[in-house]
Amino acid sequence: MFDICVNLDSDRFASDQQEVLNRAFECGVQYIALTGSNLESSSNMHRIAMQDPKRLCSTAGIHPHDADSFTESSWTELKRLAKQPLVKAVGECGLDFNRNFSPSPQQETCFRAHIELAEQIEKPLFLHQRDAFSDFIRIVDELSPSVPLVVHCFTDGPRELEQLLDRGCYIGITGWICDDRRNHQLLEAVQYLPLERVLIETDAPWLTPRHLKKIRRNEPAFLIHVANRLAQEMKVNVNDLIAHSTLNAKTFFGMA
Ligand SMILES: [Zn+2]
Repeated sequence: MFDICVNLDSDRFASDQQEVLNRAFECGVQYIALTGSNLESSSNMHRIAMQDPKRLCSTAGIHPHDADSFTESSWTELKRLAKQPLVKAVGECGLDFNRNFSPSPQQETCFRAHIELAEQIEKPLFLHQRDAFSDFIRIVDELSPSVPLVVHCFTDGPRELEQLLDRGCYIGITGWICDDRRNHQLLEAVQYLPLERVLIETDAPWLTPRHLKKIRRNEPAFLIHVANRLAQEMKVNVNDLIAHSTLNAKTFFGMA
């Protein structure tokens, strides 16, 4: 399996980053993309990926929550980092109007800059969208990037899925699918999700699969729980889902 989103820079992994990676490798995860969400974490994730470049890669970007850290100097630095060979995607970037930790105009400026950067350096875009679908699609359509796209942690319904598939996006599915309190539209959407477009992810330390009740912190070792439930809902064999999603992720990130 390939976990396309692990926020290893989170405080919650501060004391056992290496153990978390080792447990994942013991639990059938072969590859991990370490997610950068601001300049500092992007740089830290790249440094860790460099220690195990056959199994790890990283992304470099500014999460919409951190869009107020998008300044001329941080952006110059981030552009330099994004060109490193083991940084396999630009992001995560996008729009998040759920909690608006950064003002929306700033989020939009920051998002546009990432799309332009990805085009310039010809790297795929790792996209985040929450409660901002129509603005998100408008910006994607305006700039119409030609690089591969993944919309990670997809939680919307069939209509949104169709629009993303029409634009050639890969779709990242997290443990949200295991949460029967809020997965209803997602369960409907994955009926229409082709195996050729699916990626799986934990988004650890967030979104612990809900049936693992006593475990508060998610980690990449739990990726199989996402695969199992998603396969069940897509009505496909779990081994087929794993084979396809792993190949899709390797193609997306350009991991040989
Ligand atoms: Zn995200």
